Amino acid sequence: MRKYVIMGVQGSGKGTQAALLANDLDLTHISVGDVFRWHVKNHTKLGAQVRRLVAAGELVGDDLVESVVRDRLQLHDWNFGFVIDGFPRNRRQAEFFLESYDIDGVIHLDLPDDEVRRRVLARRLCSRCGMDYNLIAHRPEVEGRCDVCGGELVTRADDTPDALARRLRDYHEKTDPVLELFRRKEYVMTVDARADKVTVQQAIRTRFNLPPYDPSPTPG
Ligand code: AMP
Repeated sequence: MRKYVIMGVQGSGKGTQAALLANDLDLTHISVGDVFRWHVKNHTKLGAQVRRLVAAGELVGDDLVESVVRDRLQLHDWNFGFVIDGFPRNRRQAEFFLESYDIDGVIHLDLPDDEVRRRVLARRLCSRCGMDYNLIAHRPEVEGRCDVCGGELVTRADDTPDALARRLRDYHEKTDPVLELFRRKEYVMTVDARADKVTVQQAIRTRFNLPPYDPSPTPG
């Protein structure tokens, strides 16, 4: 069983890289941000509690985040392991996590802030199926429409210049110390996230001695 944490600023490709790794190695991809977005979209009680914070790019309170992570991991649908993305984001969350779970490694996607700004402000999301687009690197064939389901492409509520500035500040103030904590335990492998997604995925595999990634589609 393999248990990984993937860390990096918004727009560093955490979600994409976690999904590639998870699909191929039968790991469960757990994105705390996706859990919150699901609750907001489906108007649950939890969604009402976090809606404003998520839209503003502000961090949700630790108690709530920890209970979401605990409940999610208690489902035990991760026989071969998991990749958790978007958590832990501060020291307290990291300590909570290390008390309850042993982890095999932390994948740190390193991306300079000006590249983050360039990428995040070009990011679009399908409002129907959730597919990710980027007006720089992955444009849809028809402007404003999802290639897969034809749904309307929208900007994430927290991908605005103000929200991004707040998230970058939070990341450096609160999440950089988490990396330091993990580094002291020698878990962290830093990967340069400026490259294209296949190169980044291969670098992750090499650093963790995992089977190489085969980007060709499976026949049939
Ligand atoms: P993400 O998709 O990881 O950028 O998360 C989207 C939003 O969900 C964040 O801006 C926060 O409002 C909330 N969120 C996700 N993970 C956490 C966390 N570990 N701690 C606090 N808030 C979080």
